[in-house]
Amino acid sequence: MAITLPDLDLPDLAPGSVWLVGAGPGDPGLLSLLALRALQQADTVVYDALVDPRILRLAHAGAALDYAGKRGGKPSPQQPDISDRLIRLAGAGQRVLRLKGGDPFVFGRGGEEALALAAAGIPFRIVPGITAGIGGLAYAGIPATHRDANSAVAFVTGHASTGDLPDGIDWEALARGAPVLVLYMAVKHFARIAERLMAAGRSGDEPVAAISKATTPQQRTVETVLRHAAADIAAAALEPPAIIVVGPVVALRPRLDWFGRLARPDPG
Ligand code: SAH
Repeated sequence: MAITLPDLDLPDLAPGSVWLVGAGPGDPGLLSLLALRALQQADTVVYDALVDPRILRLAHAGAALDYAGKRGGKPSPQQPDISDRLIRLAGAGQRVLRLKGGDPFVFGRGGEEALALAAAGIPFRIVPGITAGIGGLAYAGIPATHRDANSAVAFVTGHASTGDLPDGIDWEALARGAPVLVLYMAVKHFARIAERLMAAGRSGDEPVAAISKATTPQQRTVETVLRHAAADIAAAALEPPAIIVVGPVVALRPRLDWFGRLARPDPG
């Protein structure tokens, strides 16, 4: 049974078009109404590994679910393959939902797919999602910005498409310019990242949190300090995906960890 939406004049996912939609970090409650609309209307849902299975269950019964991510260590389909698939499905007159974890335009390659659709003349719409670097932090009781703590925040990737630490990052400038750093895909190379930040003047005592499976019932957070973070995060064997935040806002977590308190109700 479809969930009915009030009369908000939401657009329809039209045959022959593609919606590139952010599914958020996990909790289905964080989906947008447009995302829900697309799940109800799509003929095919092309989804990534990071999309929560509870969200896929919201697709209508007749929708084809088409997996486009990595699985079991197998190489992921090449990006042009996914774009070609979207173009082919829409070209055949289908209503296509391209569903990605978080926000499609934040380290999600949504830009590449949208460019391919634009070049092919396929009508498309972008539906932003809640990115892990904001929503995941919020579920760990960490505001991305806080008055007196930081007036800038940087979203950084710790992983280039080559699998290495990205070359193009000016760690010195980031260390100086961004009091709070939110690092995606950064667990593997965090020892080197922490070294570079400390070499550029960040204190080894600065608070760090790593949040695994944020916004899901399996959410786990490790709180540490920059100098010990790589070792502590490795020792905790956090399950992917995990997001890392460096900076003074992490210190608010003991007072703001509302989600952790829900998960472990006070016995008294
Ligand atoms: N487009 C996504 C990011 C894709 S890159 C977004 O906007 O959130 C993949 C990285 O996102 C992961 O390596 C991890 O760092 C982060 N991530 C995504 N979902 C997450 C979650 N539920 N919990 C923690 N980190 C998450």
